[in-house]
Amino acid sequence: MKRIGVLALQGAFVEHIASLERIGVEAMPVRLPGQLDGVEGLILPGGESTTIGKLMVIYGFDKCLGGLVLEGMPVYGTCAGMILLAREVEGTNQPLLGLMNLAVKRNAFGRQVDSFELNLAIPVLGEQPFHAVFIRAPAVRSFGPEVCVLATLPGGEAVAARQGNMLVTAFHPELTSDTRVHEYFVRMT
Ligand code: GLN
Repeated sequence: MKRIGVLALQGAFVEHIASLERIGVEAMPVRLPGQLDGVEGLILPGGESTTIGKLMVIYGFDKCLGGLVLEGMPVYGTCAGMILLAREVEGTNQPLLGLMNLAVKRNAFGRQVDSFELNLAIPVLGEQPFHAVFIRAPAVRSFGPEVCVLATLPGGEAVAARQGNMLVTAFHPELTSDTRVHEYFVRMT
C-alpha cells in the first residue's frame, strides 16, 4: 500500500487524510522533517500560508523539502499549499518553498464572504466536471513554460496546474466526496 504524507502543522490536514483513506491509501500526518523518509508523496494542505510557512521554517522543513522535491518526491499543494509552492507571491515576503514556476495572488477573489463553489472542467480527470470549493483562494497570475495549466475559471484565472512532480489546486477537493484529484496525485507517486 502506498503511504502519502500530509503536512500537519496547521490547516485542513485531517480532511486530506480522510480523502486518502477513502481511496485506500495509507495517509500519514507529517509534523517533523524526519517523517518524510517514510512517505512516497506529500500534500501541503490549505490553511493560512503565512502560519504554515513560518512553522515550516521553525521545524526545518524549508531546509529539506526543496531538495526532496527536486530529487523527484511528488508534492501536491492545496490553496495555502499552492501559495507555499509558488516562486512568487504578489505583495508579501512571507516564507515560501518557491519550487514551482508560478506567480500567485493570495485572496484573489476577495475575503471569506466571497468564497464560492462551482463546477469546474478539469480534462485530465475526465469529462465530468469537478465540484470545486474556493475559500479565500489564490489564483495563478503568471507561470513559466514548464507549467501545465489543468483548469481555468470562466474568467480565465488558472486554478489547477502541474509542473513535473508538483501539483497545485486553488480549491479544496478534500472538502468534497469527489476523490479524483487525490487519485490523480497518487498516480503521480
Ligand atoms: N487565504 C489563505 C492564504 O492566503 C489560503 C486559504 C486557504 O488555504 N483556504 O494563505
